[in-house]
Amino acid sequence: MPKSKSSENNRPKKATVGMQLLHNPILNKGTAFTDAEREDLKLRGLLPPRVCSQDQQMMRVLENLRRKPTDLEKYIFLVGLQNRNETLFYRTLVDNIEELMPIIYTPTVGKACQKYGHIFRRPRGLYLISEDRGRIDAVLQNWPHDDVSVVVVTDGERILGLGDLGANGMGIPVGKLALYTACAGVDPSHCLPITIDVGTNNEALLEDPLYIGLPQRRIDGSAYVELMDEFMESIRKRYPEALIQFEDFSGTHAFNLLNRYRSSYRMFNDDIQGTAAVTLAGLRSALRISGGALSDQRVLFMGAGAAGIGIGSLLACALEKGGVPKAEALRASWFFDSKGLVVAGRERVRDMQKPFAHKNPEIRDFAEAVRVLKPTAIVGVSGRPSLFTEKVVREMAKLNVRPIIFPLSNPTSQAECTAEEAYGWSEGRAIFASGSPFDPVSHSGKLFQPGQGNNAYIFPGVGLGVVASGAGKVTDEMFLVAAAALSDMVGEAEFAKGMLYPPLGSIREVSKVIAVAVAEEAFSAGVSSADRPDDLADYVERMIYSPDYGPLA
Ligand code: NAD
Repeated sequence: MPKSKSSENNRPKKATVGMQLLHNPILNKGTAFTDAEREDLKLRGLLPPRVCSQDQQMMRVLENLRRKPTDLEKYIFLVGLQNRNETLFYRTLVDNIEELMPIIYTPTVGKACQKYGHIFRRPRGLYLISEDRGRIDAVLQNWPHDDVSVVVVTDGERILGLGDLGANGMGIPVGKLALYTACAGVDPSHCLPITIDVGTNNEALLEDPLYIGLPQRRIDGSAYVELMDEFMESIRKRYPEALIQFEDFSGTHAFNLLNRYRSSYRMFNDDIQGTAAVTLAGLRSALRISGGALSDQRVLFMGAGAAGIGIGSLLACALEKGGVPKAEALRASWFFDSKGLVVAGRERVRDMQKPFAHKNPEIRDFAEAVRVLKPTAIVGVSGRPSLFTEKVVREMAKLNVRPIIFPLSNPTSQAECTAEEAYGWSEGRAIFASGSPFDPVSHSGKLFQPGQGNNAYIFPGVGLGVVASGAGKVTDEMFLVAAAALSDMVGEAEFAKGMLYPPLGSIREVSKVIAVAVAEEAFSAGVSSADRPDDLADYVERMIYSPDYGPLA
């Protein structure tokens, strides 16, 4: 049986008391310390007299939070709370996930990363730099926790759709791991955010005196790969059971590193595989609405980078499992990038794009590609706004009774079209999902609740399932079962509102169901050498951290 992760493992062993206790974010309960605790833990006099419940504390947090004039100010406030009282931070996040996810994660985290050096207060996570080559083992020893289940790592080169933000990208692993805890109940002390700073090619950051990273250009080539190889080995040595999730690397590095490590390490790339699973789940839900079959779909992607190629590959994998021959399964996906339609024989087709470079004349205009290829779905993963023009959406609506339109680029400002545009230009017939949230849209007397194909539906559950099963690697089949489980959890009530995913408010339940499905897949495929627990659902349930004040050890 895989090792159970007790949520007490990383808690300080010696009693911490007095002011030191109030300054320890893991143990601090603030005004919720009981009278007896105040006596025992030398807190008498150090706190205002009234003992508050966690609910009362949360009421105060929300009152303060909602007074903040901007989302960035809300982000700064929440990070401050996380630094003071982690349990209260997670209780507030869990109980208000729909309101706070857009602050803790996209779109606000994008703004936070752009200004990271300017809003910097306290370090979170671990920074590795190119000069650490040869000493990464030693740097990892500085991390205070001996038990880590999940590492999220970035090199900051492609932060959301915002480009190279260098070390400012730390906001991403920090935010993703907050979601691991909030959505899947991974103990926060088992989470390790890492930024590998190999420099930045962002001129504005290089000239910014408050930039927090190395003021130098990126290293690349063999020096970069050797640094990454050492990093992977060092993590395995210090944290042999940890899952390593790659985030926001550039498309080329993302693919090369995934292919380099996927069979020998417990790792995955969320931009490629997590995105693919959440999009496949959205497609499955869309087809439950339209009544179409997956094997009859033709998907045209705007953008042929990590996210797009990842989705095309998982879709091909799903079709092959359903009996479609490989060549045909690959032809379900067509790609359009900054040079036009990706076709065989075109100049500059990247290696990862080659399986999808089908025989066809070159086309440079996206609306023309839609007219010629007659897709059933268009998926935007270009990181560029407004590329799904009125002409494109109207053409999709002419070709399909229920056109599937997924502008997935993040943050909201980069979406290929807005929800209002998609519904408006298709007379309310579009089946819509975006990457970042959109407000409900009213069209012809009907209120649509735009679905958000948020990776947070997938990666926390997949991660928990991998950790729970002790799987040695992360397989495509795990993402297929996660996508199926996610789509199966959407009900008629959501479909009636145009939603393709379950409400975010149910995300802890969603993540648990996905975790069990993924762990089951790991055991049945023999990817885990551990014994399957008799009651897998109960085993997963018992691993889940709940942000309640417990007795102090
Ligand atoms: P990437 O840099 O690897 O790929 C971007 C692709 O877009 C490249 O193929 C590029 O040639 C193409 N492109 C750029 N400008 C274009 C233009 N004007 N016309 C056509 N194509 C153009 O990036 P990625 O990792 O694939 O991510 C792309 C976007 O997808 C980002 O905005 C990211 O936030 C978003 N994304 C969303 C989700 C989600 O919603 N769940 C998940 C992952 C990524």
